Amino acid sequence: MVHGIIARCGAPGCEAEIPLPVNTMQNTRGADAEVEWRFIARKLGAKGWHVGRSRTAHRCPRCLNAAKFSSIRKAEAMQNGNAMNDKLKVEKDNMRVMTREDRRIIFEKLNEVYLNDKVGYGDGWTDEKLAVDLGVPRAWVKLIRDENFGDEVGNENIREQIKEARELMSQVKAIEPRVSEAQRLLAVADKIEKSPAEIAKVFK
Ligand SMILES: [Zn+2]
Repeated sequence: MVHGIIARCGAPGCEAEIPLPVNTMQNTRGADAEVEWRFIARKLGAKGWHVGRSRTAHRCPRCLNAAKFSSIRKAEAMQNGNAMNDKLKVEKDNMRVMTREDRRIIFEKLNEVYLNDKVGYGDGWTDEKLAVDLGVPRAWVKLIRDENFGDEVGNENIREQIKEARELMSQVKAIEPRVSEAQRLLAVADKIEKSPAEIAKVFK
């Protein structure tokens, strides 16, 4: 029986150590060793220590916090990096100068997929989709389209949709009385089915 252990911080250059008065058995193996390790890890954990599975894996509270802090910093740096990349892309797009060749390519594609200023784009095309398709900034597509073609969504397109919606509404209104009648008849049928005694009342 040994009376107590001393845990040493395994961080390079750290001299921190902590004694723990505990009766440990010498040369424990298997399940006993596991129980003992858990007991020590819990006791020292309560004092802010991290007890690892190997001699160098233990950490004093100060080194543990430093490690946590540095992993938080790493995550933050990564996030900032991503944000920077997005910003960089936008800035690069803004800095790109539209060449005559760019104009020609965008114009030709618009000519192909933009129907007219009443309908706008055909086949589900949008400024965004066209920009991605050609690999050019969306602002360029908008510029060329505004200058030479018309609005992104044609007025005709919207008007057509409103017209369709109105027609659908009037169709629904037209069949509404029949639906009510059908519902009334269904209720009657239900009554008949449930109770033969009701039949007389219903057909009176
Ligand atoms: Zn330490």
